[in-house]
Amino acid sequence: MPAAVPITQDVVTIPRETAEGPLNLVGLTREAMREALIAAGTPERQAKMRVGQIWQWIYQWGVRDFASMTNLAKAYRAELGERFVIAVPEVVDRQLSSDGTRKYLVRIAGGHEVEVVYIPEEGRGTLCLSSQVGCTLTCSFCHTGTQKLVRNLTAAEIVGQVMMVRDDLGEWPVPGAPRDETRLLSNVVLMGMGEPLYNFENVRDAMKIVMDGEGLQLSRRRITLSTSGVVPEIARAAEEIGCLLAVSFHATTDAVRDWLVPINKRWNIAQLLEALRAYPRLSNSERITFEYVMLDGVNDSDEDARRLVQLIAGIPAKINLIPFNEWPGAPYRRSPDKRIRAFADIIHKAGYASPIRTPRGEDIMAACGQLKSATRRARMSRRQIEAEAGARIDPPRRAGGSDEKG
Ligand code: SAH
Ligand code: SF4
Repeated sequence: MPAAVPITQDVVTIPRETAEGPLNLVGLTREAMREALIAAGTPERQAKMRVGQIWQWIYQWGVRDFASMTNLAKAYRAELGERFVIAVPEVVDRQLSSDGTRKYLVRIAGGHEVEVVYIPEEGRGTLCLSSQVGCTLTCSFCHTGTQKLVRNLTAAEIVGQVMMVRDDLGEWPVPGAPRDETRLLSNVVLMGMGEPLYNFENVRDAMKIVMDGEGLQLSRRRITLSTSGVVPEIARAAEEIGCLLAVSFHATTDAVRDWLVPINKRWNIAQLLEALRAYPRLSNSERITFEYVMLDGVNDSDEDARRLVQLIAGIPAKINLIPFNEWPGAPYRRSPDKRIRAFADIIHKAGYASPIRTPRGEDIMAACGQLKSATRRARMSRRQIEAEAGARIDPPRRAGGSDEKG
């Protein structure tokens, strides 16, 4: 038996307010901003209105200094400048893929780094956000999961990723100018580094700002949260966030899913499906996206495809097939294209949309599951990590897989 894969939520969350230095207004809920303004001397009866004004400057117009908030009295602007800051994470590197995908390396407090990916598409653009530095879960096909160091991002750091990319795209509207409805940054997916439901409050508060009609103004149907299956938080996500849900399904038996997505050992396929069945009603949303990474000889048989269809019967769903994106030392190989198409065909014939996700930004390691930050640990291969931990973990392989690589 290999050593049990730890499933832990043991992360560091930095406090939202630090004792020293001015408070960052970014990421605060409207109520928290109101309280902060009152604590800083804003008369209580004015506070709600001031929140509305400041909020619009920050999130609607992308303004970063109080001096530019021209509908506030000059003296008040100066007071705000002494007490508060408007800070977003710092971009330390930016890479452009040959397909237009942009990958940003972002530095956050404590010297940690996370990656953010912008994927331009015809008439729209999707931003893939990170919710944690690293991830406590250890999905065996995921590069992020090999990174030991983990800390939750604050709401400011999450919403700040959107603001920072808007800066880079030059996409802040100009007050008074006619509104351009085509947006470069039109969709947000929480599919970068980390498990968003293990950082629930910060993700929720950040997404509320992204969805706010006077905030970043993306509709909740343009936001997709991807979870590996933190079952108890799924209903809460429906009620408190209400965005679209994607689930990293990846296997059709508990034995294989235990290997690929170890959180399955805590909440198995049956428990996960039960939570997913309730989601559309609770969130008043349509389909759930089932993400399914195609791993050669592991989870890609016709039998898997048929079992998948049976398992999800009754759930409004789309199945997103993700050709495995390789990373240095990865213990799996991508299923051949022909196999992926045959798998997709079975699902499609059963009446489900089964798009095959085109990997984007592969040349800059920006594709799904390739993100990591530049810690020594992250540069190690899974094999090295296992060797260090004194455990060898071989992926389960179905007889007849097309190669011997591992
Ligand atoms: N932690 C969340 C969100 C981040 S991962 C989750 O697991 O859902 C975003 C998606 O990329 C998930 O479906 C994940 O399983 C998938 N993924 C991870 N590594 C991958 C890889 N190497 N190739 C393809 N997809 C991968
Ligand atoms: Fe974490 Fe998601 Fe990667 Fe699993 S797939 S290790 S949950 S980021």
